[in-house]
Amino acid sequence: MPGTVISPESSPLLRAYATLDRTTPLAIDCGLLCDHRCCKGDDDSGMLLLPGEELLLKDEEGYRFLHGGDETLLICSGTCRRHLRPFACRIFPLFPVVTPGSGDSLNIRLITDPRGFSLCPLAYGRIPLHGIFRYLVRRATRILLEDPPIAAWLLKHSNLITALEEVRFSIESRQE
Ligand code: SF4
Ligand code: SF4
Repeated sequence: MPGTVISPESSPLLRAYATLDRTTPLAIDCGLLCDHRCCKGDDDSGMLLLPGEELLLKDEEGYRFLHGGDETLLICSGTCRRHLRPFACRIFPLFPVVTPGSGDSLNIRLITDPRGFSLCPLAYGRIPLHGIFRYLVRRATRILLEDPPIAAWLLKHSNLITALEEVRFSIESRQE
């Protein structure tokens, strides 16, 4: 959409980005634990984007976008400008599972993203995440739920992520 101007005040995406701009999973740089493994993807791995994110990020050097069905995957070059990293990178290794609550309300449950288990040393829960990080991921998700297409995306992907989480629990319980 050439010429589209997105107002920071009105865009839930930009407000969610701003909410997460300065926070990290640990008080220290967790990339020191793993040599920044989650930024070392290849051409087959990337971050799923929320509706509207490609429009915000499309001009950033080093980003490529793959499209399949309704989904958009961002492939990066392994570096980015921090204020232009996508939501998925801002909240990793967490994922906000969104489920219908009473009436029109939506509930948010933060889980460790089961897709991160082969990658992230924080995914096993032995190192507690920074409390403020969890708080701000929840707050940013609440902001995003103001945007109906993003709310629908989160509801749909929450079902998929919950199913993956159940598979992981089942594998873990068999190993015990
Ligand atoms: S893989 Fe996990 S520990 Fe490593 S940089 Fe990414 S979020 Fe931090
Ligand atoms: S977009 Fe930035 S934060 Fe996200 S994986 Fe790429 S380099 Fe890492």
